[in-house]
Amino acid sequence: MNMSQRMQQGQPMIILGEDSQRVKDRDAQSYNIRAARAVAEAVRSTLGPKGMDKMLVDSMGDVTITNDGVTILKEMDIDNPTAEMIIEVAETQEDEAGDGTTTAVAIAGELLKNAEDLLEQDIHPTAVIKGFHLASEKAREEVGNIAETVEPDDEELLKKVAETSMTGKGTELNKDLLAQLIVDAVKQVTVEAADGSHIVDLENVKLETQTGRSASESELLTGAVIDKDPVHDNMPTEAEDANILLLNEAIEVEEASTDTNVSIDSPDQLQQFLDQEEKQLKQKVQQIVDSGADVVFCQKGIDDLAQHYLAKEDILAVRRVKKSDIKFLKNVVGGSVVSDLDSVEVSDLGHGSVSRDDEDELFYVEGDDAHGVTILLRGSTDHVVDELERGIQDALDVVATTVSDGRVVAGGGAIEVELASRLRDYADSVSGREQLAVEAFADALELVPRVLAENAGLDSIDTLVDLRAAHEDGQVRAGLNVFTGDVVDTFDAGVVEPAHSKEQAISSATEAANLVLKIDDIIAAGDLSTKGDGDDEGGAPGGMGGMGGMGGMGGAM
Ligand code: ADP
Ligand code: MG
Repeated sequence: MNMSQRMQQGQPMIILGEDSQRVKDRDAQSYNIRAARAVAEAVRSTLGPKGMDKMLVDSMGDVTITNDGVTILKEMDIDNPTAEMIIEVAETQEDEAGDGTTTAVAIAGELLKNAEDLLEQDIHPTAVIKGFHLASEKAREEVGNIAETVEPDDEELLKKVAETSMTGKGTELNKDLLAQLIVDAVKQVTVEAADGSHIVDLENVKLETQTGRSASESELLTGAVIDKDPVHDNMPTEAEDANILLLNEAIEVEEASTDTNVSIDSPDQLQQFLDQEEKQLKQKVQQIVDSGADVVFCQKGIDDLAQHYLAKEDILAVRRVKKSDIKFLKNVVGGSVVSDLDSVEVSDLGHGSVSRDDEDELFYVEGDDAHGVTILLRGSTDHVVDELERGIQDALDVVATTVSDGRVVAGGGAIEVELASRLRDYADSVSGREQLAVEAFADALELVPRVLAENAGLDSIDTLVDLRAAHEDGQVRAGLNVFTGDVVDTFDAGVVEPAHSKEQAISSATEAANLVLKIDDIIAAGDLSTKGDGDDEGGAPGGMGGMGGMGGMGGAM
């Protein structure tokens, strides 16, 4: 039957290819909600100071051990479009707030779980979406009302913010020291703008790691740390009051001359050829000498012969310096990165001093105007240092956000329970089915204290009952002490988080949940279970084979 015959007979037109799959309405919603919840559930057990870690093994066999939500989700081999939308929540949260990724993803999952209950009661997705949107706006507004101000020079409070963010990331033993390093680092790169606001430039803070020593020996250094050796033994290892060249060009014989075919027929010709190369290297070294540089940090290679000439000229040269280090060095010593020695000028050089550490392993580079600081993070093994680094990086972002935003709230579930209570009051003013969605939203926020309790081996229902009672009683900062199970003023107990991070978690979780709820039709050009491993994990139409990567992880969790 051709197309016009079909149309005449009033038959539905087939527009999809044979291999494509289509899932509609409630089936589509349930499929998506299941996928999203699977992601949320995968990270829940890591929430809070008593959260567990996950061991992730990639296809190359490399192991990451972490408690960090966004790291887990990025490393997991997830192959499902809806699940990927939830992972984006974590990524947005990481970019915008630097922390709170697990919270954001867990809330998104719980919103969808509660939405599913509403859909089952035949409430239209549009009403749920609208109610969630209203609740999210209201909750953000209330964060603003509840938040307390923090002064940029309130070191004690900022340290608490840093410590709260670091908890559970392998920092326990050296919490105080690490928090102090973070607060000091942020302080050094904070400038007060003309309008009185504070701008923190984290570009000027570098996190450098070194394995083999205890984390307690971590330190904050002015300037940069370059984990390299001089290229030649006869070079100086230190230079004070030095002109520093940052070079993004190899000090080697140029490609063109090595690539061209030279036919050499006699020893004379060979000698001539070698002389030619030597001349070129000598010229490059001469250009460096003429520029007045005492030290060269080169992003690329340095030829053996050039190394020798540089050593003879008493120039300290370091090769294959990481691009990120070169960039940071530029912040520290000034000048510019030179990419062609032919045009190097004195004004391109930076200025500062270079020295060597006691173990003769790294260079310290200090600039004249002390721009840029380095946190040198030490730890016993690679896995330990890596997890510390993630924790410190988050804490740096969090303290920076706190300084520039100037608002904090009490953690340990306190803010979430207070918001839930205020949302329930607000729900009374919302008419129709949206009211139920606002209430469902309030319940979803309480997932945070419930999971914190659960992960600490406490009874989550009892905890929530106690917390609600305290908040009814007007105790806005009542949260959970996960170590004792008591309801305490978590702000006073030092569990303090930036308000901005909470606002961001609420809005990105809501956006993702609403995005998922809006979908009533999934049209896939091919099998929805892209992995096609036949490992059908349940009743969702089209199977959840697309979550195959996660199914595989399931056993390890
Ligand atoms: P996220 O990725 O969301 O930041 P975390 O594992 O860092 O996840 O856990 C953050 C949660 O743990 C927050 O709700 C925070 O208030 C809570 N928390 C952190 N430290 C404590 C503590 N000492 N006692 C109780 N709750 C805490
Ligand atoms: Mg955190």
